[in-house]
Amino acid sequence: MNKQRVFVVGVTGGIGSGKTTICREFAALGAPVIDTDQVARDVVAPGSPGLAAVVAAFGPEVLTADGQLDRRRVRQLVFATPALREQLEAILHPLIRQETDARVQAAGFPYCLVCIPLLVERGGGNRVNRVLVIDCPTEVQIARVMARDELTAPEVAAIMRTQASREDRLAAAHDVLENTGDVSLLRPRISALHARYLQLAKEGAA
Ligand code: ADP
Repeated sequence: MNKQRVFVVGVTGGIGSGKTTICREFAALGAPVIDTDQVARDVVAPGSPGLAAVVAAFGPEVLTADGQLDRRRVRQLVFATPALREQLEAILHPLIRQETDARVQAAGFPYCLVCIPLLVERGGGNRVNRVLVIDCPTEVQIARVMARDELTAPEVAAIMRTQASREDRLAAAHDVLENTGDVSLLRPRISALHARYLQLAKEGAA
């Protein structure tokens, strides 16, 4: 089957910037949203070839009693040994990429949003047609994540230190959505971006 050309908008932003919230708004307008964190979980679901490959490489100790991938155990292993992280990523990244592409193709819409939290960190800009950065002030980001994940400010700050700086992310953006204030106030801007992406998809397909 011929691959349809689907215009892909990569959505990124720091933890708590509001990627999930904004993607939901686009979805309400009819745009398909693919969450790569979800894809990453799905490719190692019980019974999947991905899980089998991880177990073959790391041993059955990475399984929970009910046959799920024990994420905590995996995190401990790769944290202690960087080579293992590379090995894990070599297994998972191609599977995640393949599954994401398949979902983009199956979405049946002129454009697709693919939420990629670490797009800038991993240099994923060349795999998408356009980069939409969700931005908000650092203090807002910290307050949101503290409330959502019940973390302390230093814990959130530690996560943020592993992520790209606000400046680096903004430098990679084609579009920026400033997610402060009430989400309802952003709807006109989101509708305008939706129309723009439909237009760009149409131009790309011509
Ligand atoms: P991300 O997916 O980027 O980590 P989320 O969309 O989960 O961020 O948002 C983080 C938290 O902040 C969530 O609890 C969400 O409900 C809240 N939030 C997001 N955007 C806003 C906003 N504009 N106003 C108030 N709360 C928001």
